[in-house]
Amino acid sequence: MKKSSVLPIVEHKLKNFWNKIVYMMFPDDIKCIFCGRDVPNFYDKPYCEDCEKTLPFNNGHRCKICDMPSESDVCDFCKKEPKYFKRAFCPFIYEKQVKNLVLAFKESNKRYLAKGFAVLIAKRILESGVKIDKITYIPMTEKKQKKRGFNQAKLLADEVGKILNKPVLCLFKKEKDMTEQKFLNYKDRKAAIVGTYSVKEVRLKKEENILIVDDIITTTATINYCAGLIYPQVSNIYVCGVARTQYTEKTSH
Ligand SMILES: [Zn+2]
Ligand SMILES: [Zn+2]
Repeated sequence: MKKSSVLPIVEHKLKNFWNKIVYMMFPDDIKCIFCGRDVPNFYDKPYCEDCEKTLPFNNGHRCKICDMPSESDVCDFCKKEPKYFKRAFCPFIYEKQVKNLVLAFKESNKRYLAKGFAVLIAKRILESGVKIDKITYIPMTEKKQKKRGFNQAKLLADEVGKILNKPVLCLFKKEKDMTEQKFLNYKDRKAAIVGTYSVKEVRLKKEENILIVDDIITTTATINYCAGLIYPQVSNIYVCGVARTQYTEKTSH
C-alpha cells in the first residue's frame, strides 16, 4: 500500500523538476505563439509586432451574443434561435495562421500553446467586465482523449482558470462521437447532438456565473447544447473559444 502511494509522488516530483528544467531552457511565455520570436509582454500580447499586423482578430462589428462577425447587433442565427448562453468571447476569426495554429495545438501535440490562447481569451473576458465564478469545458469521449492524450478545451480552461483565478470543473461528459459532424449543416448538427453530451452530478448554485470553454466555436450547436444542460441551475452562462468561424447556412462545417 505504502509503496504504491509513494511512487506517484516521486514521479510527480521528477516530472515537476523536469518541467522546470525544460521551462528554464525553453520558456514558452516569452515567445510569439505564431513565429517563436521573443515578445516583450507575453501576458498582454503573446504575439510579436510583425504577426500582429497580419492576424485575423475578431475585432469588427459582431453579434453581441455569439461573437460572430455580423452587420447587425444580433445575428440572424441568434434572432432565429435564442441561445442559452448570454455572450461568447472569441479573440480570433478561424482562418489563416490562426487556423493552422489551432490545428497544430490539437493535432501536433503543441500543448504549450494553451497559455498564449488563454491570455487572449481571458483578456476579452476581463475587458468586458462580466463576472465568472466557475469554469468548465467541452469534453471529448474517453476513447478519443486516450488516443490524443489530452483534451485541448480542458488545457485552455485550466490556463484561463489560472489567469482569472477561478476553479475549473468537469461538468459534462461526452457519451459518443458523432459521425462526420463536419458534413452536417446547423439543423442536422443540432439534431445529431441530442444525447451526445450529458451533465455530471455537480452541485451548482443559482447565483453562479459559468464559463464554458471550447477550442473553436463553429455553429454554436455544441456549446449551446451543453449550456442548455445547466441553464436552469445557474445565473448566467458565458462561452469562449480561441476562434470563431464565420458561419453561414451554406457553411458545411
Ligand atoms: Zn510572431
Ligand atoms: Zn449571433
